[in-house]
Amino acid sequence: MSQKYKHLFGPVPSRRFNRSLGVDLTPFKTCCFDCIFCQLGKTLNLTNTRKEYVSTKEIKYELDDWFEKDGQADYITMAGSGEPTLHTDIGEIISHIKAKSCIPVAVLTNGYLLQNNEVRKSLLKADTVKISLSAWDNSSLQLINRPYDTNFDALVEGEVSFAKEYKGTLWLEVFLMEGINSDPEQVKQIAKYAQQISPNKIQLNTSVRPTAEACAKKVSYEKLKTLSEIFTPNAEIIADFIISETPKFIADENAIYEMLLRRPCTLKQISDVFGMHLNEVAKYTGKLQKDGKIKTIRQYDETYYSASKDF
Ligand code: SF4
Repeated sequence: MSQKYKHLFGPVPSRRFNRSLGVDLTPFKTCCFDCIFCQLGKTLNLTNTRKEYVSTKEIKYELDDWFEKDGQADYITMAGSGEPTLHTDIGEIISHIKAKSCIPVAVLTNGYLLQNNEVRKSLLKADTVKISLSAWDNSSLQLINRPYDTNFDALVEGEVSFAKEYKGTLWLEVFLMEGINSDPEQVKQIAKYAQQISPNKIQLNTSVRPTAEACAKKVSYEKLKTLSEIFTPNAEIIADFIISETPKFIADENAIYEMLLRRPCTLKQISDVFGMHLNEVAKYTGKLQKDGKIKTIRQYDETYYSASKDF
C-alpha cells in the first residue's frame, strides 16, 4: 500500500497506462520547465542541475518491498512531482526494476535533458518514453514551458537525437491550449517538428485538470479532433482513463490523501483507482476536508479534490 512509501505512489489512474505505479524521483515541483499548463502548480525549484535528489538506495528498497508485498500494476512509471531525468540514477533505477520484474517501465519526460548524452543513454532500457513538444519556436517555448535555460532548437535537437537512438516505444505529447497554441497555423508548425522526431504515436492533450496558470484554457474535443488531422500520422486524443480491473489493495484516508497530494482527482477517479464505492470515497474526502487537508477546485463542470501540505 502506497502510504507507507516515500517515493512510490499508487497505482494511480493514468490515461495512458491504466493502473500505473509511480516512482517519484524528485522533491515536489523540481523541474527544468515551469509550464503554464502544469497540473501540479508552479515550479518551486526551476533547475537543470542533475543530482541524486532522493536516495537511490531508498527507492530500490521501496521497490523491492512493493514487488514482494503487492507487485500488481500495468506499468511502473518514472513520473510524479517533477522532471525524473534530473535524477542522476534514473538509468540505474530502471535497470533495477527490469532485473526484478516483468512490468513494463515508462518514463514521462519533458525532453529538456535529452540534449545530454548521459540522459539519453539512461533511458534506452525503458519500454516506453513519453516526450513533449507544445511549442513551435523559441518565443512560444518561453511562453508555454518557461524553461530554466534552453532554446527551442536545442530542445528539438535533443528529442530528435533520442528518437534515432531509442528502440522502445516513443510517444510525443502535444499539449494544446485555447488561444495559446491552438491556431491551425501554429499546430502545423508543431506537426512539422513532430515529423522530424517521428515518434510511434502523437498524443494531443489539453487542460482537463486545474492548471498552474488560468490562461491555459481547454481546447474542445471537436476542435482537437480537427487539429489531430494536421499530424502525420493523425494524432490521438488522449481519452479518459479506463481502469482494467479492481486493484488488489484497500484504500484508506491516508492513501487517498497521498494520491491527492500528487494529482487532483474527481470522486469518480478516486473510486475507480481504489475500487471503492463513491459513497465510501465521499466519506473519506468529507473527513479530509473537515480536517482541512484537502480542498475542492471547480474546473469545467467537474469538482476536483486537491491536497496540499500547506492547507
Ligand atoms: S508539466 Fe511537467 S514539465 Fe511542465 S512544469 Fe509540470 S512537471 Fe515540469
